[in-house]
Amino acid sequence: MTQVIEIHPDNSLGCQEPKLIQERGQREVFCGLTGIIWLHRKIQDAFFLVVGSRTCAHLIQSAAGVMIFAEPRFGTAIIDERDLAGLADCNEELDKIVGELLERRPDIKLLFLVGSCPSEVIKLDLSRAALRLSHQFSPNVRVLNYSGSGIETTFTQGEDACLASMVPTLAKHTTAQKQLLIVGTLADVVEDQFRALFSKMGLEHIEFFPPRKSTQLPQVGPNTLFLLAQPFLADTAKALEDLGAQHLPAPFPLGAMGTRAWLAQAAKAFGVPNDVFEAAIEAPQKRAIQALSKHRAELKDKKIFFFPDSQLEIPLARFLHHELGMQLSEVGTPYLHRRHLQLELDQLPPNTRIVEGQDVDEQLDRCRASNPDLVVCGLGLANPLEAEGYTTKWAIELVFTPIQGFEQAGDLAGLFSRPLIRRLKLVA
Ligand code: SF4
Repeated sequence: MTQVIEIHPDNSLGCQEPKLIQERGQREVFCGLTGIIWLHRKIQDAFFLVVGSRTCAHLIQSAAGVMIFAEPRFGTAIIDERDLAGLADCNEELDKIVGELLERRPDIKLLFLVGSCPSEVIKLDLSRAALRLSHQFSPNVRVLNYSGSGIETTFTQGEDACLASMVPTLAKHTTAQKQLLIVGTLADVVEDQFRALFSKMGLEHIEFFPPRKSTQLPQVGPNTLFLLAQPFLADTAKALEDLGAQHLPAPFPLGAMGTRAWLAQAAKAFGVPNDVFEAAIEAPQKRAIQALSKHRAELKDKKIFFFPDSQLEIPLARFLHHELGMQLSEVGTPYLHRRHLQLELDQLPPNTRIVEGQDVDEQLDRCRASNPDLVVCGLGLANPLEAEGYTTKWAIELVFTPIQGFEQAGDLAGLFSRPLIRRLKLVA
């Protein structure tokens, strides 16, 4: 059975910090449009209108895998050759498309105009378009904009940009009542579990951002304390802090240890007595530890190599090393927000090679040289690496799947043990 180790600043490895290398070169990542796939499922009265090319439309359509008879809550306004050549007035055409869409879909209460590489290249000002359209369709529909462009971004930044665009619209929390805000998209089932755990601890004023409906946006002010549920929300956290909200530094709720430490930070900030906290988490923590023990036999001492992709890599590496006994060959991350990840970095073994950024050819060479048992990477690298005999896990699956919290700890471990078991069966 896995033993629970407390994640606490006192457990840090001090001067034996993991080794951080920065790399710049060719990158292999999805763009921020990908975030629409989980965001449109979460905010049920929102619509995401990508202003982009047929490539953008194809990416979203195929990645989201929506059945053609369903009414999706995303679409693409295609920028075609006439727009690119400056022969058409893009703003006029965009207004027409939005007007038709909102007339046909009165259920839409929040419309995001999502910028792309093509809209950035032709310098289409979507912030002005959003203001104009918001004015036109208010109060029934609010129109916001953000960029999902793949120029110098990675795919989870789409969620950060989306949430950050909503922050200025949040009402001010003016009362003296302290409230806890959980920031980052969580599957509804995970959100319900956390709400129940906080309730058992006696915490009543809990809000989630983003909420399930755009009409349930939280209020934010100096008495708002927020916990990040995802490690890729730097801009959103900064925007919330600008409104006076206070960030509670915590590890991320992955695995039994991470979830315990994440919940403990909230309990501490709200003065929950230790016995109440322990009683609230006792049963689910035990279930998580039991669920993990089944996967530990498969994963212990196996070497894992992370290519930079989801920005979840560092918390995942901590989870896989401490709770499942895996060895970390290399932990790549597209960006490293040191302040948000310090408690995670402190838990990595000394001399772990952490690489921020990417030079894909160099990284492939290092991957082959370290000969890992499992490689976590994007779709573009997975197939060639599988063909070379490596076992891979798609990083994007880790963002689509509910993995946070005690009840999901076993499922999270299963995402890593399953590919190894499959490979064993194939070679047997
Ligand atoms: S936003 Fe850019 S990277 Fe993303 S699908 Fe469109 S063209 Fe490709």
